[in-house]
Amino acid sequence: MTIQRTLSIIKPDAVSKNIIGKIISRFEEKGLSVVAARLQLLSRSEAESFYSIHKSRPFFNDLVNFMISGPVFIQVLEGENAIQMNRSIMGDTDPKKAQKGTIRADFADNIDANAVHGSDSDENARKEIAFFFSEANIYSCR
Ligand code: ADP
Ligand code: MG
Repeated sequence: MTIQRTLSIIKPDAVSKNIIGKIISRFEEKGLSVVAARLQLLSRSEAESFYSIHKSRPFFNDLVNFMISGPVFIQVLEGENAIQMNRSIMGDTDPKKAQKGTIRADFADNIDANAVHGSDSDENARKEIAFFFSEANIYSCR
């Protein structure tokens, strides 16, 4: 058993479609628990800093503009192999390539508005969780 924590963000497209609950259910059904959460409108500088790993990519400006276009639901998920489990529940970055039954295949419109973010490694999960939450605001029920 490797219990991990990962950062998940429900992006503005999914928040505006009123499917926060449907998305959280996908995580809970696979054994992940929400241990911290809030709805937040990111500032441009917060979004740029959060996605700084992508700053040289051609899609960086579009990504930042999209992420600040409306509130996002930011959460810490905890459970067995949470990082990889979350990535497999999310599906491929491009919804057209994502497997049926994944969040992105079922709820996302395109690669820009692709419903969710999820940490991709142990190191990035730690950094991304610390970016949004202090340890004192994470409530594990284990
Ligand atoms: P993921 O979100 O699956 O970890 P990446 O970390 O590679 O994907 O990219 C971060 C986000 O940037 C993606 O979720 C997507 O919204 C956007 N993105 C990635 N690649 C492209 C692309 N080729 N064109 C437009 N947007 C992209
Ligand atoms: Mg990524």
